[in-house]
Amino acid sequence: MRPWNLAETNYGTVKNLHYEVAVLPLGATEPHNLHLPYSMDTLEADLIGDKICEAAHARGAQVVLLPTVPYGTQTNQMEFPLAMNLNPATLAIVIGDLVESLVRHGILKIVLLNSHGGNDLKPVLRELFNQTQAKLFLCNWYATFNDLYHTIFERKDDHAGEMETSLALAYCPELVGQNPDGSLTADEGRTAPCRFEAVNRGWISITRPWHLLTTNAGAGNPHAATAEKGRRLVDLLVERLAAFLVELSAAPLDERFPY
Ligand SMILES: [Zn+2]
Repeated sequence: MRPWNLAETNYGTVKNLHYEVAVLPLGATEPHNLHLPYSMDTLEADLIGDKICEAAHARGAQVVLLPTVPYGTQTNQMEFPLAMNLNPATLAIVIGDLVESLVRHGILKIVLLNSHGGNDLKPVLRELFNQTQAKLFLCNWYATFNDLYHTIFERKDDHAGEMETSLALAYCPELVGQNPDGSLTADEGRTAPCRFEAVNRGWISITRPWHLLTTNAGAGNPHAATAEKGRRLVDLLVERLAAFLVELSAAPLDERFPY
């Protein structure tokens, strides 16, 4: 039995348990270069959610992992077939309803485990701040290891590059497009520079039109990916994020929380 995984457990188990923390993962349905599945972000959310909750549960945390929301914000990917969009305001409503379901069930410590760069969720936390009793935490898991990124990977990854492909090779290799010689069916994941230098430098930001930025939806070269790199990354994420879940589960909801 894996009582931390709500999709797998049953009412006979849940009725006798108390959960302190809920983890709500958020994925997407979008193309990932030519070689990774449309569900890549959702698979990553499932995988990382499961691994961190399993480790936290083993260390005594009262944590439950919810099923992943499989759609995210894709407004800038709609030139690609079957990118499936939830506008930011729609996604915020979905999250708000799920948060209130958890509050109704007595779970007030809620972690949004975001797997998709197009999901801009900080405004959701701000908006719900005075509207819910829940204490909301946001984890963009792909932004939790910038300090160690280059100890595992050669090239910076944005979308469907070395990092995501390594995760896929480690945990769902049957879904990775490969040629008979074992090479990836991917292109090089090259991205076009913006005509405005201030945008390239990050002084000015835009929502990038993905079909103009990329060649086949990939941003980042995937060809140095290996399963071993994917496993090392998950070990690192478990070390960092499971430790947080254990602390969060044990923390009393007093009036100074979270300080
Ligand atoms: Zn992705």
